[in-house]
Amino acid sequence: MLEKDIEKILVTKEQIRTRCEELGKELTAEYQDKNPLVVGVLKGAVPFMADIVREMDCYLEIDFMDVSSYGNALVSSGEVKIVKDLDTNVEGRDMLIVEDIIDSGRTLAYLVDLFKYRKAKSVKIVTLLDKPEGRVVDIEADYIGFDVPNEFVVGYGLDYIEQYRNLPYVGVLKPSVYQS
Ligand code: 5GP
Ligand code: MG
Ligand code: MG
Repeated sequence: MLEKDIEKILVTKEQIRTRCEELGKELTAEYQDKNPLVVGVLKGAVPFMADIVREMDCYLEIDFMDVSSYGNALVSSGEVKIVKDLDTNVEGRDMLIVEDIIDSGRTLAYLVDLFKYRKAKSVKIVTLLDKPEGRVVDIEADYIGFDVPNEFVVGYGLDYIEQYRNLPYVGVLKPSVYQS
C-alpha cells in the first residue's frame, strides 16, 4: 500500500540486513568488555537501533534521546534543542550514538559536545545513512551504513510529516506526495 508513494528505492531491506550484520561484527569487536551506553536518537533511529544492538554480542545498555532540529519541515532550521534527555549518567562511559542519517551534522555535533561536556569516556557514532553533500558542520560518523545522494529520503525510521517510518527500506517519495 505504501509502495504506491515511492518513486525509487535507494537501499533495500536485504542490503540493510546484510550491512547491520557487518557493522554488528565491527561493533562487537570494538565494545567487548566496555559495556557501552548505546544511545538512540528518537524517533528516526528506532528501527536501526533495534537491528544493530541485536547484532552486537557484548554487554551493553541502551538509552534514548530526543532532540529537534527539523520540526516538520524538509530543511534544517539550524538549531538543536533537547526534547527528551537521557535517563543515564554518562560520566566515564563509552558511548555509541545511533543515528538514522547525518545531513548538516548539527544534531550529532551537538550531541558529541554534550556527552563530552558530561565527561563521557569516549563517544562514537554509527549512522545508517550519510549525506556527505549536506554537511555544514565538520563531523564524521565512525561507522556508516550507506552513503545517499542529497535527496530527501524516507523509510526504515525516516519520516515525511511523521509518515513512512515503518517502510522496511529507504526510498524517495513521488513528487505528487508533496503536492497533496
Ligand atoms: P542534521 O542535524 O545532520 O542536519 O540532520 C539530522 C536529522 O535531520 C536526521 O536525524 C533526520 O531526522 C533529519 N533528516 C536529515 N536528512 C533527512 C532526509 O533526507 N530525510 C528525512 N526523513 N529526515 C532527514
Ligand atoms: Mg535523526
Ligand atoms: Mg524528521
